[in-house]
Amino acid sequence: MKKVLILEDEANIRSFVVINLKRAGYEVVEAGTGYDALDKLEQNPDIGVAILDVMLPDIDGFEVCRRIRASGMKIGVIMLTARTQEDDKVTGLMTGADDYVTKPFSPAELTARIDALFRRVGTATAKVTSDMLKEGPFTLNLRNHSLEKNGVKVRLTQVEYAIVKLFMQNPGKPLSRENILAMVWGRDYVGDLKIVDVNIRRLRIKIEDDPQNPDYIMTVWGHGYQWGR
Ligand code: CA
Repeated sequence: MKKVLILEDEANIRSFVVINLKRAGYEVVEAGTGYDALDKLEQNPDIGVAILDVMLPDIDGFEVCRRIRASGMKIGVIMLTARTQEDDKVTGLMTGADDYVTKPFSPAELTARIDALFRRVGTATAKVTSDMLKEGPFTLNLRNHSLEKNGVKVRLTQVEYAIVKLFMQNPGKPLSRENILAMVWGRDYVGDLKIVDVNIRRLRIKIEDDPQNPDYIMTVWGHGYQWGR
């Protein structure tokens, strides 16, 4: 079944879309915030098309789109623009959206756009991730688990690789130390949070120009770390 994500914070609009998409034969995943959508996309790699509202309580739909494209996920993106203003459409397409639908829209119009996008993307289950994640001077190869900085290979342990991958999949997103521990070491891991700090310190020495003044792995005081500013 073709799987679609709908990101919309207004519950009544979201359920209206969900009902109509299910009626049209799609499997639907719902998200109410930008970060929620990014998490759901990661958990459901078989999503073929994402419908993104622009105005959201956390990060806006354009930013979600930008991150989807930065992550290398091969999915179609339709922006829901509230206004008919041209600049919203331009911004949406600039961030890598494939199409846009202006509110208010009819269910028939939306499903027609989704169908067209599925045809363009090729298959219902689009290829999920590319083999490379690129951020600034870094290229992470997901196939052979290697990292390059400006084309020069950086030697990483498997744990360090897992941390870098987590960061590069979530650029600009503050990740708590608990979160990093759970994602990298697993939810069952019983250990000290300091292991996160130790690995971050070692990673900084390997990848930062100046480990004392990091440009890439930033400290979020009292919380954890984030990739970039
Ligand atoms: Ca909204």
